[in-house]
Amino acid sequence: MKKIEEYVRSIPDFPEEGIIFRDITSVLQDADGLHLAIDSMQALLDGVDFDVVVGAESRGFVFGTPIAYNLHKPFVLVRKKGKLPCETISRSYDLEYGTAEIEMHKDSIKPGQRVVLVDDLIATGGTIEAAAKLVEELGGKVVKIIFLMELAGLKGRERLKDYDVASVIRYD
Ligand code: IMP
Repeated sequence: MKKIEEYVRSIPDFPEEGIIFRDITSVLQDADGLHLAIDSMQALLDGVDFDVVVGAESRGFVFGTPIAYNLHKPFVLVRKKGKLPCETISRSYDLEYGTAEIEMHKDSIKPGQRVVLVDDLIATGGTIEAAAKLVEELGGKVVKIIFLMELAGLKGRERLKDYDVASVIRYD
């Protein structure tokens, strides 16, 4: 059986020179790769007591929803600004060039709920840190953050040092 790493395609110089892009489309478009990715991420939650899965647009939806479904938990979307129709709270965070803004529905997390955050990859940690702050603003407690892939050289874990972080694949 192939290892999960073998399904990830690495693209040099995308989206710009010097960056190695870790592509998950090659994982998803293989039935065994998709199963292995979901099962491996879900295994990171063994023994974790939680109420809701929160995923960051858009690849956090791809991995977060099947995990929530399998474990019979609700799934909540963190979206880019302007996409959610009801009352929202939002948060800006820095990108390498410029800023981005993400939002959650105000009624998506109930105070005291225990939240698992999901995304495909952690680079600097800026995206998921902003998502964690939104969850906390709504009164939720982030009990675990999981990723399929971690770019360890960018030190996202240091930024998330107050949280319990786990990933399936680590690139140094
Ligand atoms: P961060 O906020 O710097 O941790 O960047 C993480 C976000 O950028 C995630 O939502 C990823 O989907 C995306 N991202 C950054 N680098 C890569 C990559 O090499 N492959 C896939 N997604 C990436």
